[in-house]
Amino acid sequence: MDRVIYLDNAATTKCAPEVVDAMLPYFTESYGNPSSIYKLGQKSKAAVDTAREIIAKSLGAQNNEIYFTAGGSESDNWALKATAEAYSAKGKHIITSAIEHHAILHTCEYLQKQGFEVTYVGVDENGVLKLDELKAAIRPDTILISVMFANNEIGTIQPIKEIGEIARANGIFFHTDAVQAYGQVPIDVDELNIDMLSASGHKLNGPKGVGFLYIRKGVKIRSFVHGGQQERARRAGTENVTGIVGIGAAARLAHETMQARTAREIELRDYLIGRILDEIPNTKLNGHRTDRLPNNANFSFEFIEGESLLIMLDMKGICGSSGSACTSGSLDPSHVLLAIGLVHEIAHGSLRLTLSAETTKEDIDYTVDSVKEIVAKLRGMSPLYEDYKAGKVKAKIQ
Ligand SMILES: *Cc1c(COP(=O)(O)O)cnc(C)c1O
Repeated sequence: MDRVIYLDNAATTKCAPEVVDAMLPYFTESYGNPSSIYKLGQKSKAAVDTAREIIAKSLGAQNNEIYFTAGGSESDNWALKATAEAYSAKGKHIITSAIEHHAILHTCEYLQKQGFEVTYVGVDENGVLKLDELKAAIRPDTILISVMFANNEIGTIQPIKEIGEIARANGIFFHTDAVQAYGQVPIDVDELNIDMLSASGHKLNGPKGVGFLYIRKGVKIRSFVHGGQQERARRAGTENVTGIVGIGAAARLAHETMQARTAREIELRDYLIGRILDEIPNTKLNGHRTDRLPNNANFSFEFIEGESLLIMLDMKGICGSSGSACTSGSLDPSHVLLAIGLVHEIAHGSLRLTLSAETTKEDIDYTVDSVKEIVAKLRGMSPLYEDYKAGKVKAKIQ
């Protein structure tokens, strides 16, 4: 099948042609080291500075508060480990949410082994952080609150302003993993009381392997890589000039096109959600109905396995993602779907579809028609569905 309908933009995105064009000269003619004194080096330095400025401006931050990294995972690791280390004399307690990306959760597990205590605050059935639980979790020795801006699986956008206010009122630093949200929703770090923010190039129509961490001036976070003076000596190593130029170009493009692009995506997303829920029985939407990423839709279909659905969609040229972690060698359903209260068998029958600026209504129609056909086929092979049809068992999703 030649036709590919890519609906997995939460996993990664295509590098925009403008981004590739911006990067190309820095592989070949402008290959100087930004630390070199001669013009060829200074040209690379200027390109890095420009990218830093674009990103700082997009967040309402200062240029010297943006630190380039090798991606979202590195930014998350850095924010947590280095804050924990720098402020361990004040306390050893960290608060996060139950639905974070593994870059946060596994870093927290590591820190717990190092003697830190971590509280995982729960979410409601829409995936929204329970603010009263957050407030109750705060202790005199709490040094950091880390809550993602928007969830990568179910798309729910968190009440970041409120979380920032709670953190600020209690003198606790606030980090947010904004890998999914940056470039999709407007973010102002001052307005939202954000002290640290992670983002990644490849979730933003930029290149893979580059990201940044915003660190508010005054946060005494430790260096992540020791060596040269790059990134104010906090993240040493010759800059990934091409990658940095790429994430800068991607950030510029994302912010210039944000309004029109996301308005269009929301319309298509809601059309997709409407058709799926109307036309396929025993199906539910996961995540908040409106406070969700413009391009995210996540469904649970009762009586089917998400993995089978994905494989059959792939045969039709459709790329999606499921809510279980089978692909990563585990049979456990996603921690996010369990945290919003789904039982195992419902969580296993989940499908995430994430749109891009290139997605068309024809793509959505073809996808819905395919999902309908495949779900019917899979249910036709399910003994449980047969029992349900015969009135022997009740459906969990009406
Ligand atoms: C993709 C993702 C990451 C990891 O980013 P990488 O650049 O792939 O390391 C972290 N957090 C969230 C929410 C993500 O979606």
